[in-house]
Amino acid sequence: MLIVSDGVRWQEVFRGAEQRLLSRSPGGVADTTGLRRDFWRTYSAERRATLMPFLWNTVARDGQLYGNQDLGRVAEIQNRFKFSYPGYSELFTGFADERIDSNEYPPNPNVTVFEWLARRPEFRGKVGAVATWDAFGRIFNRERAGIDVLFGWNAPFPEETDATSRRAMLNELYRTGIRYWPSVSFDAPMHQVAKEYIRSKQPRVMFIGYGETDEWAHGRRYDLALRATQQVDAYIADLWTMMQAMPEYRDRTTFIITTDHGRGSGGDDWTSHGERIDGAEDIWMAVLGPDTPPRGDLVQTTRVTQSQVAATIAAALGLEREFLAASPRSAPAVREAVAGRR
Ligand SMILES: [Zn+2]
Repeated sequence: MLIVSDGVRWQEVFRGAEQRLLSRSPGGVADTTGLRRDFWRTYSAERRATLMPFLWNTVARDGQLYGNQDLGRVAEIQNRFKFSYPGYSELFTGFADERIDSNEYPPNPNVTVFEWLARRPEFRGKVGAVATWDAFGRIFNRERAGIDVLFGWNAPFPEETDATSRRAMLNELYRTGIRYWPSVSFDAPMHQVAKEYIRSKQPRVMFIGYGETDEWAHGRRYDLALRATQQVDAYIADLWTMMQAMPEYRDRTTFIITTDHGRGSGGDDWTSHGERIDGAEDIWMAVLGPDTPPRGDLVQTTRVTQSQVAATIAAALGLEREFLAASPRSAPAVREAVAGRR
């Protein structure tokens, strides 16, 4: 399971809420008292566990976290653009492609690890993606890839005959909801679609993409960016609990949780990212699964790159060598993340 929350900074993941941004300016927060009550704690270990309790209570105990710069660990992207399409493409293919320089870029000419897996007989029909942003049809090259891609504001499921079913209700929410961001739907209904997809199709490999964390930050709403981050953490906990209760997934499922780019720092740049924003190349990564030795953020690997995620997915499935042979430009797996695999 590759789970991405768009544009979540390593600073919030490892330090929790930033005091300076719990403010009218530069945070864009109206109810600063309520936000401090919910997110401010004296110590950073408390702040981050308040913001992301699943990451800091479960993943930090049973898995690994990469990119804590306060401990001298770095996770960074390889592409120079520092925005979304190049970032997701790097995550999915294992390399940065200079041609991919726009979020409007046409269907991906490169083959993602998801498409590569879906072409193997044992994964055919068992690879899916559910996400809020409408660019994912192009990033995965849905027409060519042979994987399910449910994205944007499109009604997620085929027309239902039973109007009282969960699927019919989800379709209706997508059809009738106000499109606050025309190209990005809300996380809450998408999360339900992802769960419905997992229960009904039982994919072996899946991408889930949450988008609100980036949108609220662009809108200079630190309160909603924090609440969206905390909610994504709860969604991931919900997925973990649901899948650990399913015999198909229990004790044999790996979660890789990361982001597509970082953001700047300081009063202005925290809202933004892109080629000219310092620090937007810095990301973070969390891994939890049966092959992942429990090390928390005290991992031995001091530097990982976004481009290593694709091969890490293949490695968790025992297919790294085959993937790298088929995709020689891809970076190798983060070895330590799957070191328990025999
Ligand atoms: Zn993004």
